[in-house]
Amino acid sequence: MKATRRLFDEDSRLTEFTARVVSCQTDGRTWRIALDQTAFFPEEGGQTCDRGWLAGQQVLHVSEQDHVIWHRLAQPLSEGEEVSGSFDWEKRFWDMQQHTGEHIVSGLVHSLHGYDNVGFHLGSEYVTMDYNGLLTREQLREIEWKANQAVADDLQVDVSWPAPDELAKMPYRSKKEIEGDIRIVEIPGIDLCACCAPHVQRTGQIGIIKLTGMESYKGGVRVYMLCGFRALADYRQKEESSGAISALLSAKADEIFPAVKRQKEECDQLRFEVNRLRMELIQSAIRQLPEAENACLFDPNLDKGNSRRAWNLLCQRFPGLCAVFAGSEQQGWQFILGGGKGSAREAGQALITAFSGKGGGSPQMFQGQISGKRKEIEIFFENHLTSKEI
Ligand SMILES: [Zn+2]
Repeated sequence: MKATRRLFDEDSRLTEFTARVVSCQTDGRTWRIALDQTAFFPEEGGQTCDRGWLAGQQVLHVSEQDHVIWHRLAQPLSEGEEVSGSFDWEKRFWDMQQHTGEHIVSGLVHSLHGYDNVGFHLGSEYVTMDYNGLLTREQLREIEWKANQAVADDLQVDVSWPAPDELAKMPYRSKKEIEGDIRIVEIPGIDLCACCAPHVQRTGQIGIIKLTGMESYKGGVRVYMLCGFRALADYRQKEESSGAISALLSAKADEIFPAVKRQKEECDQLRFEVNRLRMELIQSAIRQLPEAENACLFDPNLDKGNSRRAWNLLCQRFPGLCAVFAGSEQQGWQFILGGGKGSAREAGQALITAFSGKGGGSPQMFQGQISGKRKEIEIFFENHLTSKEI
């Protein structure tokens, strides 16, 4: 089949077009339509496809195969029919802002550090770019600054299809081997790259380029970026979030970090104090337990560390098997069990078998979780675990 004429290559601002249906095929559920020409950019190169309408139907997906662009529809169209199409300009423009921003950042990473862009994802939430080398935070800051300088310079984004001999002399970046005519996108002084996606006409249309994060990735780095309106939407979201924190803490917006730090320190201090008091209560509860060989303690407020400390205290006072149960009848019990002469593992196994729980441990100590009524666990503990020599 003849290659589809890519109208977006010629004019990325064209949102309405007419075309002739050259093929209509079905997979049994939906239909895929090839046109002689289209303004719909297909999903490719890590970028999602345009959304829009064709002959009054919503276009479900757009893809490219062997230079033919396929539009997926719920209903068929007739071959030879002339149809009109239009797409969601806002989504396209926002994508072009991100995509052209990527050229600037990748061009700068290449010229300043010699790394290649080896991965690109342009989604509705964020953009990622993968580079095959490491960058420091300071280097990333410098790249971000220079990228925004290129925006402020409002440079022309040039598109051309150079002849092969001309192309051979060009030091252009390329993400993959491309056959046929090579479309070159140039941002003067910043980037020269083979690319088939739509871009803005001038860098000023990108708006702010914000590099929002970086992480190690396959021996290099993955950089997160937002441009233009997506960066503004992100700023608003962060502004709302910091505004809410600021109001909550009665702190000015630029003072929320020390205010949060102070709150955290106070919280840590209180948590320490609560723990200390809780342990005092546990010690008192253990002192009040009747004299016996074995003992078990139930407490709804114990965390893992306190359960262990309570169990140690219990073992210090009672010579036999000791168990601590933290939790409730509704949410289940976390337990630690051991002490005495018997095997904690056997006692623990008996307990989790009787109360459909799970756990594991050594002959000295067994930890697990069970669910059941406190009274029934106490009776089981008394009759089945402690009355016999384990
Ligand atoms: Zn591009």
